[in-house]
Amino acid sequence: MDLKHVESDLDLDQTLFTEEQIVDRLKQMAAQIEADYEGKDLLLVGVLKGAVMVMADLARSLDRHVEMDWMAVSSYGSGTKSSGVVRILKDLDTDLNGRHVLIVEDIIDTGLTLSWLITNLRSRGPASVEIATLLRKPEAQQMDVEVKYVGFDIPNAFVVGYGLDYDERYRNLRCIGTLSPHVYS
Ligand code: 5GP
Ligand code: MG
Ligand code: MG
Repeated sequence: MDLKHVESDLDLDQTLFTEEQIVDRLKQMAAQIEADYEGKDLLLVGVLKGAVMVMADLARSLDRHVEMDWMAVSSYGSGTKSSGVVRILKDLDTDLNGRHVLIVEDIIDTGLTLSWLITNLRSRGPASVEIATLLRKPEAQQMDVEVKYVGFDIPNAFVVGYGLDYDERYRNLRCIGTLSPHVYS
């Protein structure tokens, strides 16, 4: 899908990041990760479904051996805000005992889902647990969980594309953007 097609037919209001900008940033993050985990095994844990694209591009930018596993979680609570009460829909296949774990996320908003996830994974005896997220919203910067790798800090707007959905659509856009208001109404 090229950008023109996306913007005219698929309801994007504004493009925040092009595919090229995203992939470039992920390459920089991958270089940092390579340096930090040199000589250590590394398990990437992707959080379904939003992190699928981030995982694919980040993992392929890593010039080293890496394992990938996936978790699906659902946050209880109504509306668009997460409550921090989380249910596991799909657990990891991998035993985390002694492993260096890097959680791969699409976006951190309140950080409630993530702080639950970190506590959960840390209880499984890993050597370390860190977080890499492509996007971070302002509220997340106030949370007490340290996020080691952040792609972009963005303003408090609802974004879609590159894995991120609105009602399960737009995940397959190559870029990240804000939705036109007419989509909501
Ligand atoms: P948190 O627990 O950090 O508030 O929620 C994070 C989750 O909320 C993300 O994994 C994502 O599923 C969803 N989310 C938060 N902000 C956005 C956004 O701007 N766009 C989309 N599509 N999903 C978002
Ligand atoms: Mg996510
Ligand atoms: Mg969603």
